[in-house]
Amino acid sequence: MFKRKVWVDNDSLMDDEGSMAAKVDLIGSRKMTKMYQCTQCSYKTSNRCDITKHYSTHTGVKPFSCLHCSYQTADKSNLTKHSRIHTGEKPYFCPCCPYRATRSDSVKSHFANVHKFT
Ligand SMILES: [Zn+2]
Ligand SMILES: [Zn+2]
Ligand SMILES: [Zn+2]
Repeated sequence: MFKRKVWVDNDSLMDDEGSMAAKVDLIGSRKMTKMYQCTQCSYKTSNRCDITKHYSTHTGVKPFSCLHCSYQTADKSNLTKHSRIHTGEKPYFCPCCPYRATRSDSVKSHFANVHKFT
C-alpha cells in the first residue's frame, strides 16, 4: 500500500540529518549542548523540533499534513487539533454533565452557559 507522508511519520522525517544540514547550521557541536542556528535569521535553539518549526516560517513549508483532507500546517499540535474534525475525538469533557467537546474553550463556554457557576 502506498504510504503517504503523514504527521505520525514526522519524527523519522526530522531525523534526516542530511536535509537539516542544508537548512540550519549546527553550532557548538563539540560542546555538550547542540545548538541549531537558523540560516535565515538570528534565531537559535537547542531543540531540533523547534528549529524545524521555526524554519518553516521562512519557507512556508508545512510538513504536517492531514490524512483525511488537504489541510497542512507547520505546527504538529495544530494538526492534532485539526484531525479531531475527522476522528470525532472529543478529549475535553464537562465535569458536571456528559457534554464532550473537541476544544477546551468549547467546554469552558459550555460550562459558563449551561451551569453558570461563578
Ligand atoms: Zn529564522
Ligand atoms: Zn483534515
Ligand atoms: Zn456540562
